[in-house]
Formats: sequence, C-alpha cells, structure tokens
Amino acid sequence: MEEVLEEYVGRLAPSPTGALHLGNARTFMVAWLRARSLGGKVVMRIEDLDHPRDKPGAASQALDDLRWLGFDWDEEFTQSRRRAIYRAALDRLAAAGLCYPCVCSRRDVEAAQGAPHSGEQLFYPGVCRDRFASWADAAAAMAPRTPCWRFRTPPDAKVEFADAFAGKFSQDVAATLGDFPLARDPDGAGYTLAVVVDDAAMGVTEVVRGDDLLPATPAQILLQRALGLPTPRYCHVPLVVGQDGRRLAKRHGDTRIASFRQAGWPPEKVVGMLAASCGWCAECESMPLQELIGRFTLATMPHSPFVFKMP
Ligand code: GLU
Repeated sequence: MEEVLEEYVGRLAPSPTGALHLGNARTFMVAWLRARSLGGKVVMRIEDLDHPRDKPGAASQALDDLRWLGFDWDEEFTQSRRRAIYRAALDRLAAAGLCYPCVCSRRDVEAAQGAPHSGEQLFYPGVCRDRFASWADAAAAMAPRTPCWRFRTPPDAKVEFADAFAGKFSQDVAATLGDFPLARDPDGAGYTLAVVVDDAAMGVTEVVRGDDLLPATPAQILLQRALGLPTPRYCHVPLVVGQDGRRLAKRHGDTRIASFRQAGWPPEKVVGMLAASCGWCAECESMPLQELIGRFTLATMPHSPFVFKMP
C-alpha cells in the first residue's frame, strides 16, 4: 500500500501583550521554516484572551512586522472571536464531571503552596473539588465575585512525550500543578483550554514554540485526552536571553522588530542575525526568509538559550 503522508500544519501564536521583539521573531522563524521546509501549512492565531495585558493595536502591529520580515500564512484566527467554541468544550467537560467551579482567590491559592513550584503556574490542591453541587451554588457562595473552572486532574497524571527538540519530557501533573484552571468564568477561557481546543480545531500537527512552555505541555496533553482530541507533536526551542541570562525584555535595550525597521535595517539583516544564531548562515550575513527554507535544520540549533547582544 502506498504510504499516505500527513500534511504538516504548523502555527504561529502571538500574544498581543506587547510589541514583537527579536525573541518572538526567532521562535516564529523556527516554526515557520519547519512548516515551509516540509511543504506544510502555517496557521496564524492571535492569542488575545489575556485581558488586561493585551495592548490595543499590538496584534496588527505584530502581523505587520512579521510580513515585513517575510512571513506569510495560510489561515488567520483570533481567539477573542472564538469564545463560544471554548465555552462548548468547557460545557462538555462539566457535563462529564471533568471540571468543577472553584471559589478560591489567588491569595488562597498562593497560601496553599507547599514547596516552591516552578514557573508562573501555581499548584492547586483541589480545595473546592466536590464542594459545590453546581456552578450556581458556587456562584452564590462567591457573589459578587465569580468562581473559576478547574480541571479535575486524575491521580495518575504522569504524562510523558518525546519533544522533537528538547527530547524526552515527563511530568506528573497531579504533583506539579494539581487541578489547573481552565476558565476565569464560563465565558472566560484561559490559555490552556483555548490552546488545546484550537490546536485540534485548526488541524495543527506539530506545535513549535519557546521552551518556557515545555512545563505547560503535559497539562495540555491531559486536557486533549479528556476532550478526546489528538495530541500534536511538540518541538520546544530555547529562548533569546540578554547578557544577564534573563528572558529578553526592555532592560536589554530596544529589541522590537519595529525599531530595527525604523532605524533603517533591511529585513534580511534582522533575519540573517537570527538565522546565524541557529547555525543557518554566517554571522552578519543578510538573508531573506524565503532563502532559509532550503537551509533549515534543527540539527545546528544550539540547545542553550541565544544570548543576545545589541550590535
Ligand atoms: N501565545 C503564546 C505566547 O506568545 C504562545 C502559546 C503557544 O505557542 O502555545 O507566548
């Protein structure tokens, strides 16, 4: 029988919480080149559910910067227009008893931390599990504030997967995150729920993103399983950091793509600088993004973060 090759579908998922900078651009370059070098499709997804951190105008500016760098994509979605879809997934989980309303405040959750936990995600020991018979009961107990929804993480929640770049990764979600949050309220889908629903709905076959999200992946896989959705492949690549080893930020100087553009840099020079850091061209070589399709490989990419120094 002839082998049927699955079509590769990748995605770029910017959060419009600020301007696109070199760090985001480098990760997007890897994601885009991985898809294009395999003849695959690229989905653009604006992840704008993070109010109030989202900045007005940042999404269109990011798309403009990406086009200027030479990126293109085949489809475009905006998460804030898809709330009904996330709500339907949440309703399904609730009907199956796989999530529950929680009235704990952030302070309560912080106070419940035993050992320090990694990253920004807090461990939640399940205080509100089986506490309320319904959402309405929880809402009444918490009024005027609104409960959130949490996933009922099973006790055997060890998830293991083989990352295409980072290698084997495993995590016991019950021990590290516990019952992680799904939504701020029934219509307030959070990152984990939206990303899981969308990766499946958009037919994403491989997720290429920064390795800061590696520890968030096991919870996403658990949720895929609970919703009966396929698990894509994952490829987590190192971030760009400043000289102090911390994730690229304002204190490292102005690394916004728009600023390089305003300063008169041609896009090929920005792309070349990032491509050199991945071993695809020589230092200081200018390189149009299209030309990198033939040179792309994960094999030359360093496994340590790229330490950026303003040229
Ligand atoms: N929107 C997220 C970010 O900009 C990426 C989420 C993902 O790739 O799953 O950090």
